Amino acid sequence: MLYDDAYIKSLIKTVENWPKEGISFRDITPIFSDPKGLRIAVDAYIHRYINANITHIACIDARGFLIAAILAYELQKPLILIRKKGKLPGATISEKYSLEYGEAELEIQQGSVKKGDTVLLFDDLIATGGTLFAAINLLKKQGAEINEVAAIIDLPDLKGSKRITEANIPVYSLCSYDGE
Ligand code: AMP
Repeated sequence: MLYDDAYIKSLIKTVENWPKEGISFRDITPIFSDPKGLRIAVDAYIHRYINANITHIACIDARGFLIAAILAYELQKPLILIRKKGKLPGATISEKYSLEYGEAELEIQQGSVKKGDTVLLFDDLIATGGTLFAAINLLKKQGAEINEVAAIIDLPDLKGSKRITEANIPVYSLCSYDGE
């Protein structure tokens, strides 16, 4: 093992019944306030992707931005922001997706990737995979391929990582939690 996953897990705080009843919210902010934890997490991704065939790193609004920006700097790759509707200026492409209650929409700037690009897609957490699939569709609509989806946390019982793998996109996470 290249990194101390027990240490990363010891930093993640579970907040029960937040933001609503029945949800175990996995709070990653303590990783960012712990310099050793941030280094361990970032180094794990750098080791994994330093020789990977990736042309771009894309990341999802907002917690996905945090580590992805460091990776883009360290791996010297262009960083592409996939944002919630209405945040990106200029011509955009958008993709609607379902949340537990209602719908949401993600956007990417037109021309940010193109055919032939191979993208590492980053978000903080994989639950149902709905958010990541919307991002995958935005990248694919512009002709790019997804090299891998990376996250800090996987919640395998919600089947998002399984659905993404079944779509022939590899998934990597630093740790996982059973249950929801
Ligand atoms: P999903 O589209 O269902 O895969 O949900 C993924 C997004 O929702 C991620 O960007 C997370 O930030 C957020 N999310 C979903 N479930 C949780 C949870 N239990 N703890 C923290 N964030 C969550």
